[in-house]
Amino acid sequence: MSFTLHGSGAGGGIAIGQAHLISSARLEVAHYAIAPEHIELEVMRFSVAVEHVRAELQALRRSVPASAPTELGAFLNLHLMILDDSTLSHAPRELIRSLHCNAEWALVAQMDHLVAQFEKIEDPYLRERKADVVQVVERVLKVLMAQPGRASGAPAHEESLIVVAHDLSPADMILFKQHQYAGFVTDLGGVTSHTAIVARSLNIPAIVGAHTARQMVREGELVIVDGVHGVLIVAPDELVLEEYKQRQRELELARQKLKRIRTTPATTRDGTAVDLHANIELPQDIEQVRESGATGVGLFRSEFLFLNRDDLPGEDEQFEAYRQVAQAMHGMPVTIRTLDLGADKTVNSSARSGPNPAMGLRAIRLCLAEPQMFLTQLRAILRASNYGKIRLLIPMLAHAHEIEQALAMIAQSKELLDEQNLPYDRGIQIGGMIEVPAAALALGVFVRKLDFLSIGTNDLIQYTLAIDRTDDSVSHLYNPLHPAVLHLIAHTIRTGARMRVPVAVCGEMAGDVTLTRLLLGFGLRQFSMHPANLLEIKQQVLRTDLAKLAQLANRILRVEDPEKAQQLLDKLNA
Ligand code: PEP
Ligand code: MG
Repeated sequence: MSFTLHGSGAGGGIAIGQAHLISSARLEVAHYAIAPEHIELEVMRFSVAVEHVRAELQALRRSVPASAPTELGAFLNLHLMILDDSTLSHAPRELIRSLHCNAEWALVAQMDHLVAQFEKIEDPYLRERKADVVQVVERVLKVLMAQPGRASGAPAHEESLIVVAHDLSPADMILFKQHQYAGFVTDLGGVTSHTAIVARSLNIPAIVGAHTARQMVREGELVIVDGVHGVLIVAPDELVLEEYKQRQRELELARQKLKRIRTTPATTRDGTAVDLHANIELPQDIEQVRESGATGVGLFRSEFLFLNRDDLPGEDEQFEAYRQVAQAMHGMPVTIRTLDLGADKTVNSSARSGPNPAMGLRAIRLCLAEPQMFLTQLRAILRASNYGKIRLLIPMLAHAHEIEQALAMIAQSKELLDEQNLPYDRGIQIGGMIEVPAAALALGVFVRKLDFLSIGTNDLIQYTLAIDRTDDSVSHLYNPLHPAVLHLIAHTIRTGARMRVPVAVCGEMAGDVTLTRLLLGFGLRQFSMHPANLLEIKQQVLRTDLAKLAQLANRILRVEDPEKAQQLLDKLNA
């Protein structure tokens, strides 16, 4: 039976494909069809892996010293029990036989089933034991994936699959850059959560906050993801399917047409130049940046280099990543934001998340608390600045002393490099993100001490309106047009212009075509966004006459009624 679910569109476009239910990208494995004559071999491959893990766990248990806490032995016993339970050691064999699928796929499918059972348990202690099931499965998967005799076969076509998950962390999401799925749907997540931001950077249709999708959609079911309107249609009838296929063709045509303005300079009708830069998470995103015609990288979220690993990347490894981006941009500006870890992006080794992580030890606060980690990054960025036009951007500043301490650490890193005769750009520009309301309200010290500012509207809205950007239950209150938000943005842009300190916007508002004219009307001349949005924004810039904007933008700033603000915005965009 066909039904529809609503969430928030997190990536434009329309995708049509088969639902693929997953629990974690870490456990995302290839799906192979196994030929009937190889089924028993595949079952044996699974049995060998289980035996291997059993031997591993038994050896670990034997090696536990008598003086070790008793919990350690109990923990290993529990994992051995889980491994020996028929729901994990036998059920996947039956799945291989009945579905003719590879062992990894069968194991993860069975794990998903077990995890769902655990989630129904009321007792919180027992419910949390699902984490142990996942850990045991991870062990078996590791062995399976390292086996030389892995079954071969035609991999399932990822391009026709739509990933459906309950929740995905930004770290999970970034792993999908190695895949080619047609679309994404998650039950949880706000539209400017980092999970949604990475989904958007994959440039495929996506929906977050779809509430019960993971529970209601079945594996393999035909679904339509409308990432523009945040609508998921499950098992559509022929008529609906045809209509969406038609819309899909129209959108693709429009996308192709936009490519014609790739190299056209972004200037308004009256000849004012506007910088359109791109946001990236990893060096590999640069190809997409170049295809978009961006004239710089306005935000490199460097913390993504730190996710999905057990150790921290060292100075040389970071240097290589930053240098690669700087060189690939051939002298165009590359703005590297120093680590914004904490909140929804955590590394294993800095498990410092407090009771309210978005307001806790995040970004520059964490860097100042971990000076060694910060110095390592600063040295790497400075060294890379010798290979292009790098700018350094500090996130989440609120206090004058944070600016001073950050600048002192940059000066210290320069001295260390000087002592070693290592070259760096001595004129490197240092900027600060304006994403805490306190910063926008007390700009004096920012414009005096820093070379440029970049408004992070995602956090500025989160902190101004007291809305957790990762929480879909309050996402209806997340409104960029709230007068307080617009006031802070306009004030920052205008103060920057008056004091001759360049101001950019690098939050999601910069890539929202309905807000381009409003921001231009406030005086903004630098936008940084996902490469996928860039040509649409450029088209809007090309169609805009600045002279007509300022007055209407000012009126929008003064109205208190959001409906009236929306009406005026529609007029501005007409
Ligand atoms: C922002 O807050 O708007 C921003 C650009 O940074 P991030 O989304 O990574 O927090
Ligand atoms: Mg931010």
